[in-house]
Amino acid sequence: MTGQKAQVPLAVTPVRVAGVATHGEGRTLEVRAVFDGSLIGRVPALRAEDVTRACEHAQVVLERGDFPQHQRARVLERAAQLLSERIEEFAHTIALEAGKPIRTARAEATRAVDTLTFSAVEARKLAGELVPLGATESGSGRIGFALRVPIGVITAITPFNFPLSLVAHKIGPAIAAGCPVVLKPASQTPLSAIDLVELLVEAGLPADWISVITGEVAEIGASLVENPIPRMITFTGSAPIGWGIAARAPRKRVKLELGSNAPVIIEPDADLKRAAASIRVGGYVQSGQSCISTQRVLVHRSVYEEFLELLRHEVETLVAGDPLDEATDVGPLITQKEQERVIEWIEEACTEGARLITGGTQLESGILAPAILADVPPAARIWAAEAFGPVVAVLSYGEFDEALELANASDFGMQAGVFTNDLAKAMTAIRRLDFGAVIINDVPTVRVDQQPYGGNRDSGNTREGPRYAVMDMTELRLASLPA
Ligand code: NAP
Repeated sequence: MTGQKAQVPLAVTPVRVAGVATHGEGRTLEVRAVFDGSLIGRVPALRAEDVTRACEHAQVVLERGDFPQHQRARVLERAAQLLSERIEEFAHTIALEAGKPIRTARAEATRAVDTLTFSAVEARKLAGELVPLGATESGSGRIGFALRVPIGVITAITPFNFPLSLVAHKIGPAIAAGCPVVLKPASQTPLSAIDLVELLVEAGLPADWISVITGEVAEIGASLVENPIPRMITFTGSAPIGWGIAARAPRKRVKLELGSNAPVIIEPDADLKRAAASIRVGGYVQSGQSCISTQRVLVHRSVYEEFLELLRHEVETLVAGDPLDEATDVGPLITQKEQERVIEWIEEACTEGARLITGGTQLESGILAPAILADVPPAARIWAAEAFGPVVAVLSYGEFDEALELANASDFGMQAGVFTNDLAKAMTAIRRLDFGAVIINDVPTVRVDQQPYGGNRDSGNTREGPRYAVMDMTELRLASLPA
């Protein structure tokens, strides 16, 4: 791909393992800008024994017990403040390493401030509850309370597509809960994760509270999953890898945030222009590489052609180009191989009867032109699997019930959207759509960081968001005393 060359830092960016800055003894991974392939960093390629060292030290840190609740809250508050002062710096790194358009990268960094802020709130509020043991004859003469104690050391594994925000969603709540972390960021995007951990240390986090493990999965993956010390693995990434990890760690609490093929339903009473403008964002932001990217668009038959025309008009105004350009809406896919896969799925859908309305080919800049496919057969991969590219698949329906059934007919169940001004239909959709969230009069591509966020079926098994993650990361310990 063409574009502005990024600056080349020559040195290896060290990571903290067990509190010690580690350079990888000459074994490194290159980090390259997604858009132009230029070298933007080098990180250590660690080994299985580094994972062991990190886990063993994290257990020592846990048992040391010298990072009390009020200090954890203060660190998170300070970190939120420091990050809010460095949005540009972080956004620039995200834009380079993830190929994310700079305006979207800024929004991600700003959201990470929200996540740290809400994590600090949870650190301040973390409490157990009174248990009325005396309310039964068997508990008579006892008084009880349940403390919330940290579950133990946590392994956190994060994907490339939100390299800062999703790291914040793991380590913010872990700090609030009191759990030391062994963090494995995606190999394509380790730099913003490393910078966030450094920022936390600057904010007062004990230097050995979080270890960062960079390296090849073939070398470190098994130890990360199978080391017996961590009591929990919090994983965000693709469904096959996530469920595979859960199967290999049956004795750990494994919390999974995985992929989806998010649907949106458009009823004839809806504001069609608004729906098309929202899908312009929801289907194409960061080139569709979001677990809640709007992928399956179900439009009532009576407004189908009108809506397709409105959507085509919107999508053709998207600016594709260099992520560092302020005008860019759509940047590159993470790899050329991924781009070829998405093009193949588009072509395959066309041979199965879909109509290509716009886009779907590689532009001169190397970027995939944002695409719309109409009349997509539900068995086509671009409908049934996770597309993870700048393409939406559109299909018409007759009855509202049919739309709900088509939306539910998926292996995934993260978030769904419904455009309607009929309150009864909105309530029916909220009741019947089997998803982690139902968004009325907007696309499913909406995440507010304090919400319970996550999916059903193949999309995962938990809800993330500081309040909910802290519940996952703690356990209740009952204290029973003679009254
Ligand atoms: P991925 O390939 O599953 O990788 C995610 C992380 O797992 C990376 O750090 C990766 O390391 C690591 N990993 C891969 N194989 C592993 C193994 N065998 N053992 C331990 N770790 C392993 O996902 P991705 O391509 O980075 O991200 C895209 C996926 O994430 C999409 O499916 C998307 O929907 C999903 N996602 C979900 C959410 C959510 O909140 N539900 C949010 C964002 C993204 P390497 O990078 O070194 O391979």
